[in-house]
This record gives sequence, structure tokens and C-alpha cells, in this order.
Amino acid sequence: MNQDSLPVVVTGAAGFVGSHLCEALLAQGHRVMALDNLSTGDIGHMDGLLGHKAFTFQRRDVCLEPPRELVEARRVFNLACPASPAYYQTAPVDTVLCSVLGLWRLLELAQRTGARLLQTSTSEVYGDAEQHPQRENYWGNVNPNGARSCYDEGKRCGEAMMMAYHHERKVDVRIARIFNTYGPRLRPGDGRVVSNFIMQALQGQDLTVYGDGQQTRSFCYVSDTVRALMLLMEGEEIGPVNVGNPGEHTMLALAEMILRLTGSRSRLVFRPLPQDDPRRRCPDIERARERLGWVPQVSLEEGLERTLHHFRQLLGQQRVIVA
Ligand code: NAD
Ligand code: UDP
Repeated sequence: MNQDSLPVVVTGAAGFVGSHLCEALLAQGHRVMALDNLSTGDIGHMDGLLGHKAFTFQRRDVCLEPPRELVEARRVFNLACPASPAYYQTAPVDTVLCSVLGLWRLLELAQRTGARLLQTSTSEVYGDAEQHPQRENYWGNVNPNGARSCYDEGKRCGEAMMMAYHHERKVDVRIARIFNTYGPRLRPGDGRVVSNFIMQALQGQDLTVYGDGQQTRSFCYVSDTVRALMLLMEGEEIGPVNVGNPGEHTMLALAEMILRLTGSRSRLVFRPLPQDDPRRRCPDIERARERLGWVPQVSLEEGLERTLHHFRQLLGQQRVIVA
């Protein structure tokens, strides 16, 4: 192991992005202290890590006082928070508490120990954006009390709290605004569009397109997102920095691409558009490019192929089941 490596805390480590981040940090020789309350995470995501001598895991809620051993850490990545709208809308109180109270606990810890704290904020701070593509200096268009507000406003308050602690109490902070990220270990049942469409296509079920399918999203492969988080943590830029792939796709186009890649004969069915579902979402990534030297490397097609491989393994099948 690298002797200069820093003990690093990852909260939300059993989640989709968190588990990939832990792997990447261990591969760089860091000692990783992982926390997760396993609300949307999966202990199975850490199967390959639990035997690693530089890795420890505690089942723990970030809303509680952080474990004593965290004082050693020089870096804290905060990923604890449900990210799927289908999930966070069923647990809005936990979501807002995690985003605000959980982050407050970590900021207090960082103030005491001098650790650098990176917060995973979100493109949802832009809400149903009226500027396109979204740049970091756009303030957003968010419904403060709608179905998504527990998450959107929780993350916006998180950014405000990060900057308040930075300016007044000199806490060393970093803010990443992550756009839709996908890849292996998305949970099949968690309701996000990529996992829904892939599972439906592989099982020969109808693909559920919400609304008319003309709304857009920009999908970033998980290894690109993780690389950006690590660069942001070790660079001078505080942020906020958009982390996303600027390729913009309608949900209809995504559905069609997944049908083509799986060879599935599933059909599309249209379901009501959820409340406050943003119409267009696309990052301007100039800041990340200039200040972190980061651009995404994995195309949507290549990333979907890798993701499909994972879901096929989950389903225990080598070939696609078609309708
Ligand atoms: P995820 O739901 O897969 O992972 C979140 C993890 O946090 C889970 O393992 C969950 O059990 C854990 N968690 C939730 N509440 C907790 C609490 N109170 N205490 C401790 N652990 C808790 O989501 P993800 O996609 O891996 O997202 C990770 C982070 O990135 C989140 O903060 C999310 O808001 C942010 N983000 C993700 C995306 C994306 O597209 N994946 C986009 C924008 C922002
Ligand atoms: N969506 C869809 N079908 C699904 C799940 C989601 O058409 O089965 C749409 C959803 O309405 C949104 C987009 O896909 O417009 C992305 O949804 P997701 O929940 O993945 O993330 P969001 O960007 O909304 O947080």
C-alpha cells in the first residue's frame, strides 16, 4: 500500500456510486472507512471489498454522531442519500434529514479535524431548468414544496451549508453537481430509468416511458463520474462543478437504444409523467474540463453494453429473453 495514502471516509459506500468509488480509492492505495445505513444500498455491492485489509465498513446512519475513528480521516466523500426519485419520494423525511442533518454532522466533524469534505450535490439543484445547457452559475427553477423537493431542496440547502462553513469557519469543502449516472450495480428495483428499461427489455416486459418520452437526460457512465469526484477532491477547485456527460438524449431514444442493444422485442407503453419531472437536462462541463482536466470517456452505447452485461449476470442468463 502507498505509504503516503490518506485515510478516506466514504458515506453511502454500499450504494451504486459509493461502491465504485471505494474500489477506485483502494486501487489507488488508500485506506477506506466506509459507512452506510443500507437503506437503498446493498451489502452485496461490497463483496469484493470486505476482505481487503485497507477497507472497513460500519452500518451507520450519517444523521447520528460520526464514529470516533473518523477523526483520523483527512478526506470525506459524502454520498449518503437516496438518489432514485421513486425511492426518495417514498421516504421524503429521511431524504431531507440525510441531506441536511447528515451533512451538518460531517461538516462539524470536518471543522474539528481539518478533513476535506466533498459533497455529492446534484443536477436537481437546477430543477426544471429554464437555461440550457445548465452552467454552474445558473440558480435553477425548483418547486420548493413539490414531490421532488425533499431531494432538490435538501441538496440546495446542503450546498448553502457547505459554503457557510467554508466562509465562516474555514472548512475545506468541495461540491460536485452530479448528473444522471448509470452503470453496473444500479439496483434493478430502484426505479431509475436505465435500470427499469434494461430489466424490462431483458425480461420481455413493456418499457414504461413516462409522459411522451420527449424529456431529455444526459447519462454519465459511473467510472467517469468516480474519476471526476477523485479529481475534484484532490484539486484546488472548490466547486460547484458539473459532473455529467453532455450527450443529451430523449427517453424515447434511450428506450430504442436499449431495445436495439438487447435485441428485445419488448414494446413501449406510455405512463403519466411524474410531478415536476424536469423537461431537459444537459450539463455544460467547461468548468470541469478547464479546472479538473476532466471529460467523460465512455460513450452511452459502450456504457450501456457494460451495464447490460451486469444485469444479464444478475438475471443468471447468458442470452436475452425476448417477448
Ligand atoms: P444510492 O441510493 O445507490 O446510494 C446511496 C447510499 O447512501 C445507499 O447505499 C444508502 O443506503 C446510503 N444512505 C442513504 N441514507 C443514508 C443515511 N442516512 N446514512 C447512511 N447512509 C445512507 O445512490 P447513488 O446513485 O449511489 O448516489 C450517491 C450520491 O450521489 C447521492 O448523494 C446522490 O444524491 C448523488 N447523486 C447521484 C446521481 C446518480 O445519477 N446516481 C446523480 C446526482 C447525484
Ligand atoms: N422515466 C421513464 N420510465 C421509467 C423511469 C423513468 O420514462 O421507467 C423517466 C423519468 O420520468 C425521467 C427520466 O426517465 O424523465 C429519468 O428518470 P430517473 O428516475 O432515472 O432520474 P431523474 O433524472 O428523474 O432524477
